Amino acid sequence: MDFSFTEKQELFRKSVRQFCEKKIAPYAAEIDENGEIPPGVIKDMAGFGLLGITISGKYGGLGADFTTAAIAAEEIARADISMATAVYYLVEAGWSHLFEKYGTEEAKREILPLVTKGDHFLGIASTEATGGSDIASTSTLMEKKNRKLILNGSKTYISGVREAAKYGGGYVTIVKTDPELGHKGLSFCYLPVKDQPGVTVKTIKQMGRGGMSNGIIIINNAQIPEHYLIGEWNKGFYYAMEGFNCARTLVAAACIGAAQKVLELGIEHLKVRNVFGSPLAKFEGLQFQVADNYIKLESARLLVHKAAWMLDSGDFSNPDLNKAIAAAKLAAPSAAFDIIKEVMMWFGAYGYTREAGLERGFRGVTSYIVGAEGAQNIMRSIIARELLGKEFST
Ligand SMILES: Cc1cc2nc3c(=O)[nH]c(=O)nc-3n(C[C@H](O)[C@H](O)[C@H](O)COP(=O)(O)OP(=O)(O)OC[C@H]3O[C@@H](n4cnc5c(N)ncnc54)[C@H](O)[C@@H]3O)c2cc1C
Repeated sequence: MDFSFTEKQELFRKSVRQFCEKKIAPYAAEIDENGEIPPGVIKDMAGFGLLGITISGKYGGLGADFTTAAIAAEEIARADISMATAVYYLVEAGWSHLFEKYGTEEAKREILPLVTKGDHFLGIASTEATGGSDIASTSTLMEKKNRKLILNGSKTYISGVREAAKYGGGYVTIVKTDPELGHKGLSFCYLPVKDQPGVTVKTIKQMGRGGMSNGIIIINNAQIPEHYLIGEWNKGFYYAMEGFNCARTLVAAACIGAAQKVLELGIEHLKVRNVFGSPLAKFEGLQFQVADNYIKLESARLLVHKAAWMLDSGDFSNPDLNKAIAAAKLAAPSAAFDIIKEVMMWFGAYGYTREAGLERGFRGVTSYIVGAEGAQNIMRSIIARELLGKEFST
């Protein structure tokens, strides 16, 4: 048993933190206010190797393992607690792994170098209006005709639709390929957005993550090349579970990064704010809150690091992996939410101001409690299924 990172991982964290403090943190307020991550920030992230970080060197990535990718997620969210930049980063890091593992060589050569260069956004399109939790109910249809894949349907609450439509990019998309077969009749494909006939997007204004768009993809007879099929026909459900495991680990890591930053700011504030003639830090009631928040953060952090470590073992069929990742995805956003809420109280009225910036984090981490990359009850169901046995799952 060893709880420490390797020297290489520590050096990586140090250099990512320096990069984020210089190239992301100064723009964090503007990113949230203006509704966009400045293209220069995206390019700088690509230059550092952060975009599509898990993609191998052959396609321009760093080929990072998930522990390394989680370290970067923590540091990016620490610099932009709104989660916007972290979302851009982690959706690509999580789902491009799936693309590289199961996509065709032709599609990978075409798309992945654009992702690592920061010229294309790569997202995940799974949720439909009928409900995101029940993937088997996916109704967007895909059929094969004359060496083309033809898609009809729509996806909703999809992160990055404006970015993909404006700058270029697309989605690993889950579609129904055999309506008779339930979850065994799903497949995965790459759906381009910009300049793709039959594909249009609409944005939906969100309460947080202001710098990253979210919205609907309307797919009307979109014809895409056959080589955009990802993996085998009708095996999409299993790929989705694998992709979610990768992305959920990075979501949880990002929440840890944001919570860590906010807790540090809170502790500093308690030391310098004088009320009733002494620093707030002298009051036992607040000291207890510091200790409780530290434990909450540290427990979630350990779950996240364990999840990343298990992912790096590469055994996606291990049921303990699903349980460990669901636990991390359940614990980290909730811990971050509680910690940010409490630290806002330590700041009094100032905590409620836009200027303090804490509310950005509060709005951002809420997205992961509501459901981005999987709702909290679904995480509970995964854990319960592994503990109780599949015969008790719904
Ligand atoms: C900010 C944001 C960004 C997102 N980005 C993307 C994206 O990029 N791509 C994408 O595909 N999707 C995205 N989503 C959608 C996300 O994946 C879904 O919100 C999520 O899967 C939950 O689906 P739903 O919102 O339809 O809720 P529903 O599935 O309708 O669930 C509603 C509530 O019921 C609970 N629930 C559901 N089933 C059960 C059950 N069996 N037992 C107990 N409780 C249950 C859930 O926990 C939830 O609280 C995003 C969502 C948000 C908020």
